Amino acid sequence: MRVSTKLFLWGIVAAADLFLGYGIWKTCTQSWEASALSVEKQVAITFDDGPHSIYTARLLDGLRERDVKASFFLLGQNIAGKEAIVQQMELDGHMIGNHGFSHVQMNQESVCEAVKQVEKTNDLVEEITGKRPEYFRPPFGSWSEEMESEVGMTVALWNLDSLDWKYQDTGKVTKAILKEIEPGDIILMHDVFPTSVEAALQVIDTLSSQGYTFVTADELLVD
Ligand SMILES: [Zn+2]
Repeated sequence: MRVSTKLFLWGIVAAADLFLGYGIWKTCTQSWEASALSVEKQVAITFDDGPHSIYTARLLDGLRERDVKASFFLLGQNIAGKEAIVQQMELDGHMIGNHGFSHVQMNQESVCEAVKQVEKTNDLVEEITGKRPEYFRPPFGSWSEEMESEVGMTVALWNLDSLDWKYQDTGKVTKAILKEIEPGDIILMHDVFPTSVEAALQVIDTLSSQGYTFVTADELLVD
């Protein structure tokens, strides 16, 4: 009698284990599927040449309302007087990268001069945020490997150019991005034009409704 009671109880425990085990397996499978889906539809929206006192501030408000994180590659010469904007970027959880100091073509400078440009901007950002940028986006996408190893930063390019600086037209910029967009894309924009800021927010709203999520560029640059 005692043996059969034990066996009976063991049977219940084993059945409960199986049931729970299945439950856990099912939950894990479901969450894996969900994250695989969202990884597929991730994009990064990036802004060069700022900060701008009016347009960057407007963009930050729009991003905060939508709970979207973006990446900003700052031009050192534009930082003075806009420290509060840079501080807000950091507080809002955006990625802050380096775009040099005065928008020169880095591979036409001496390595020493190019490194100085990058370090000057890193110093300014670090003074404001307490963090030294790790990612560098060279103006015009031109740099040398020697320079890259000297500054010890990761070069962060893009694969979808919105040509917003050329169009300066909200409708055209929005259309150009939505026509080309694919999961995993890093979109290049410039937060120094009002049309770019408006286009970026429209693109975010449209892509969000299509199930896209927005991550910072560093998350898509990992091999
Ligand atoms: Zn630029």
